[in-house]
Amino acid sequence: MALVAQRKAWNKGMKGLQSWHNIDGLGKNVDFKKRGKSISRAKKGMTFTEEHKKNLSIAHMGIQAGEKCHLWKGGITPENHKIRNSTEYKQWRTAVFERDDYTCQDCEERGGVLNADHIQPFAYFPDLRFVIENGRTLCRSCHVKTDTWGKRVAQYEGRRVSLSLS
Ligand SMILES: [Zn+2]
Repeated sequence: MALVAQRKAWNKGMKGLQSWHNIDGLGKNVDFKKRGKSISRAKKGMTFTEEHKKNLSIAHMGIQAGEKCHLWKGGITPENHKIRNSTEYKQWRTAVFERDDYTCQDCEERGGVLNADHIQPFAYFPDLRFVIENGRTLCRSCHVKTDTWGKRVAQYEGRRVSLSLS
């Protein structure tokens, strides 16, 4: 019985609200605005929490980052910077140098300023970033002459040259 009484009361309240709108005869837009206001007022304390707002902004940032990632041409990005400073990257570079005996694979000069070059560009082949077979030791001057250096890397988008992976 108590349940029925509650339902009755709830219906009554709704009817009251509806008739209030009807009697007022408000325009659609005004009516919507008013309803929106009364809902947010009614739900005060139930609106988005700070955490929810944070999650929303993170989700939004995620979309932006994705778009930026798509336009990424191997330039200096926080991600790029982070990876190049990572332990994994440093280990990969050292492994490449050691395999090549710290010798430039182009001019065969040993020592000096050496770079570990990604044969398949770092920017477009994330899965090959830490594959030693995808690395080669180049001295700085040979490295800058490669067709994957700097902005030239853009032509490699979506292109994958066959690698002799052991
Ligand atoms: Zn060289």
